[in-house]
Amino acid sequence: MAGPVTSIAEVPLEELRLPGELRGPAERLESYQVQWHWYPEHAEPPASPPDRVCMLVFDGTISLFSTGVDWLELALHVAWEPELAVHASVEVACWCPQNHNMHAIAEATWLTGTPAALLSSFTAGVDMLIGFIDAGVSDVTLLRSEAGLPNP
Ligand SMILES: [Zn+2]
Repeated sequence: MAGPVTSIAEVPLEELRLPGELRGPAERLESYQVQWHWYPEHAEPPASPPDRVCMLVFDGTISLFSTGVDWLELALHVAWEPELAVHASVEVACWCPQNHNMHAIAEATWLTGTPAALLSSFTAGVDMLIGFIDAGVSDVTLLRSEAGLPNP
């Protein structure tokens, strides 16, 4: 893994075999203290597709709230699942009986067959995360309650 960096300009998209056009929508997250990570070792498609495992190529995370124990985070992933996909999620700390550590209370996945589809998928993921931020919801206890999840 490499990163984190706060500027998409520092992420070597070419080395990751991703289109440079992703920088446009990615820049829109920079005013929200996004942290970018990337995984050069996953630039190539997996030779034998991992079973139900997501192989991250590139991701951005935005922490909206964190006490170290409880937290609310937004995540945007570009990953092999096993086809290249974009995944956006709103994640909370989890107190389910079977503890997942992280529980996604909202998520969406977009497939990306072509560079143009990858760009539109990535843009849709950015739009989803900014839409959540703009809605101004940051009460993680309320978010868990609304999702039917236990609170600590
Ligand atoms: Zn959970």
